[in-house]
Amino acid sequence: MRLLLVEDDMMIGEALANLLRGEGYAVDWAHDGIAADTALRAQDYDAILLDLGLPRRSGLDVLKAARARGCNVPVLIATARDAIEDRVAGLDAGADDYLLKPFDFSELLARVRALVRRAAGHGQSRYVHGDVVLDPVRREASVGGERVVLSAREWAVLEALIVRPGQTLSRQQIEDKLYGWGTEIASNAIEVYIHGLRRKLGPDFIRTERGLGYQVPVP
Ligand code: CA
Repeated sequence: MRLLLVEDDMMIGEALANLLRGEGYAVDWAHDGIAADTALRAQDYDAILLDLGLPRRSGLDVLKAARARGCNVPVLIATARDAIEDRVAGLDAGADDYLLKPFDFSELLARVRALVRRAAGHGQSRYVHGDVVLDPVRREASVGGERVVLSAREWAVLEALIVRPGQTLSRQQIEDKLYGWGTEIASNAIEVYIHGLRRKLGPDFIRTERGLGYQVPVP
């Protein structure tokens, strides 16, 4: 999952970026409205965490411009507790949800997960196919009732695939979900994670579409 974090407060931004990366998200951090706008034009994101009070261009203007060009990425706005008008304006401009500052990190993570799930068209977080059961929220996986431990990166690859079961994602698309700006990527990294996942979840769980990429079956 790749997130755009838009936040001009360095302390808050750093804490959020670290938290989200620790959860296995690829995070691009834009520090002002113009940078956010540029990032949104250049990259597909699974969700945006958008501060409204920003230098150079307000969060509301960034959101309005994105929606006006047909960008339908899920947007979670972060606003101050007393700014009811901002929240209303944000929702009216096409935000999907909002969080009141200061917010609890576990609530933020839950709302991001819910947003990504809804955008993918299903409210269910658990994925079940055959004897494979995956719960990305609890980070629990089992095969035939036996617990399987997956690394944060393996979960990140898996989440990119199970949000869109039956759809093929290219290696580049999976890489985009895993790595933020300026991250060095070994050329065979995705293959290594896929190999690890097949070893743990069964050789046929992730299918290779020759020359196209990878997919998991519809649950
Ligand atoms: Ca701000």
